Amino acid sequence: MSFTVRAPAKINLHLGVGAPREDGFHPLVTVYQAVGLCDDVTASRSPGWTLGVTVPDWIDADAVPVTGDNLVDRAARLLAGHHGVELHAAVSVAKTIPVAGGMAGGSADAAAALVALDRLWELETSDDDLLALAAELGSDVPFALVGGTALGTGRGELVEPVRDPTTWWWVVVPSGEGLSTPEVYRRFDELTPDAPAEPGPAKALLKALGTGDPVVLAGALHNDLEPAALDLRPDLSDLLELGEQNGALRGMVSGSGPTCLFLAEDADAAREVAARLSEDHGVVLVTNGPVAGAHVVTYA
Ligand code: ATP
Repeated sequence: MSFTVRAPAKINLHLGVGAPREDGFHPLVTVYQAVGLCDDVTASRSPGWTLGVTVPDWIDADAVPVTGDNLVDRAARLLAGHHGVELHAAVSVAKTIPVAGGMAGGSADAAAALVALDRLWELETSDDDLLALAAELGSDVPFALVGGTALGTGRGELVEPVRDPTTWWWVVVPSGEGLSTPEVYRRFDELTPDAPAEPGPAKALLKALGTGDPVVLAGALHNDLEPAALDLRPDLSDLLELGEQNGALRGMVSGSGPTCLFLAEDADAAREVAARLSEDHGVVLVTNGPVAGAHVVTYA
């Protein structure tokens, strides 16, 4: 018996960041959107525990840990411990979400593993328990379960769905080299010594979403981590400018970066922007959102 669960990458349409809390986490007010760039996690019956990862040729396989530290291992141990069952499954992860790219690929894999192993081990974990386990694994993991478009607060783990009936078109340009999320937050702290204890609300973004108009949404996109990511990777500014000069309504750094995102008017415009960016950048992807959170795609 085996289950394949697909989980989406996230982008942050709005990312407001406050000063670090006492526990070291930064308070966030964010609007997440799940986009159609997904990882698939397959869990099959097996007497022991094995984990394998496959990547497309543009992802560096060595950047993904396969022994113990993978978020899939952690998710499996947490779920097994919660129910008092033994860790037994053969799990494989097929990645297409950029690694260390600010799109929460590891979190997507953790969410997919929770759902796949819950089914494989016939645990029937409640939604509330799955969300609580997800929050223990990482701030972005609950959103990977929920998907769609959602407001994230706390350190991002408190997720409230937002109505978003429009299909938004994005061009995604991963970077050859990842950026460490903690390093970007450290640079944010250096650049923003006066960050508020609580970030402001995401009102302008939520209002723009409701219009369904990509030009309006483009004007409202906001990422407090962008200056820090650009400070660490100044080369990304040129890429953002190139996209905007070639038809993108807006270019922005995805979360903590270094992946860059470009909002396009529609599918045709996205393909045109992607064609132009492909001339200078090896991997350029077109996707859209919102899409569903972690869900079973194959049951065999
Ligand atoms: P963050 O959620 O911190 O913003 P990110 O989207 O920038 O992360 P991820 O692809 O989630 O980046 O990976 C961050 C780090 O987590 C990687 O450098 C890698 O060492 C580790 N990692 C653990 N498990 C996984 C996994 N399943 N897929 C990718 N990276 C993983």
